[in-house]
Amino acid sequence: MANRTATLVRNANLPGIGWRRGNLIKSRNGRFKPGWMVYNGQEVEALQGVFQIRTYEGDRVKYTSVGDDLDAAQAMLEKLNATRQMEVAKAILGIAGPEPEKKRNTLAELVQKYIDKKKSPSQGLGYASIHLYEATLNGFLALVKRQYVTDVTEEDVTRFADHLKRQGFSQKGRLMRYTVIRGFLRHSGVDVEKVIEAATHKRLAAKPDLHTDPYTEMQLEKLFSICTPYYKVVFTLLLSTGMRFREASHLTWDNVLWNEGKINVPGSQRVTNRGRVVEFQTKTRRGRKVPMFASLKTTLQEWRKQNPDTIYVVGTLRGDHPNNHWLDALKHFAREAGLNCGVCDSCTLRNECEKFYLHRFRHTFAHRCLRSGRGIHTVSKDLGHHDLSITSIYLSGSSDENGKDPFAGAA
Ligand SMILES: [Zn+2]
Repeated sequence: MANRTATLVRNANLPGIGWRRGNLIKSRNGRFKPGWMVYNGQEVEALQGVFQIRTYEGDRVKYTSVGDDLDAAQAMLEKLNATRQMEVAKAILGIAGPEPEKKRNTLAELVQKYIDKKKSPSQGLGYASIHLYEATLNGFLALVKRQYVTDVTEEDVTRFADHLKRQGFSQKGRLMRYTVIRGFLRHSGVDVEKVIEAATHKRLAAKPDLHTDPYTEMQLEKLFSICTPYYKVVFTLLLSTGMRFREASHLTWDNVLWNEGKINVPGSQRVTNRGRVVEFQTKTRRGRKVPMFASLKTTLQEWRKQNPDTIYVVGTLRGDHPNNHWLDALKHFAREAGLNCGVCDSCTLRNECEKFYLHRFRHTFAHRCLRSGRGIHTVSKDLGHHDLSITSIYLSGSSDENGKDPFAGAA
């Protein structure tokens, strides 16, 4: 009956460290210091987080989240300890009491609460991040069909990961989603290290290869020779600006700065077109200008002549709305062009090569710009990186042909 006493701890997202648990700190007046905890033997500020009640079942430690209100959490703790003492007393006296019926949140309710929390403005998350949480957790919920979070097994998590793989998500995409699931489970009081074995975790959390290969000249040539005129513009735009695909799919003509020879990527925009309002924010919510090299300028001028009335540069052909089908099209053209590698999982399962994805145009842009002598600071700005170390991943090979249009003759 060792360690029957339940204690209160804090589970918080420490800036630059991540979610950690730590003991609370008692101030001189005997009250806990709200918003602080002990981490690595030090008192650290832990503003973003929840209180958890730590209990023991035999040797097993269990954490139950009890919200972010210190007074309410302490009240729950006192109640729990009182109940436990009574249980112990009853056990000694041989009185068998009925298990107290606790109101438990279902898995679906926990997911909704977690998503609502992520949506709250204080979290400062952008549209893309919130969407990632929502899509991932609702997808997980739909697949595992568990009633309570305590029913979730390791197999549920691996099944979801396999499901993502079958759907053609990249390794990075699967990693992000696994991280979301894990964060949610942990937040919901699940001891994830117990539920997900170390070996499984290592496999699911494997980082994608940072060696980001550009498309080869030959691949691009074949791709451009087979795709439709619309996709020729789409792929040229992605390739020669390095824009993220959602930045490109939301690009409007009024952000094509012909005279300046640049394309403006607004940090956020709100476009009303044909009665539909589309809002968009870049990943960092900061705007930037990307170069419009001569080859792209020519392509866009011709495209504009053919599409003089559209709002979006490469919107859907029928509705002139941001187009979400570029990835499917790229996979299709790669297959048609005979470019599938034939050996990756995705090729084997679906005849869709995992080596063809939209973000790879951005990698190719970075590689080509650096190789043609465009300075790393400039390329870093082009890409909207906040850190040169990210841009430097693309630094490989030698620099030659200073100052030339790296995309002349690409399309
Ligand atoms: Zn393949």
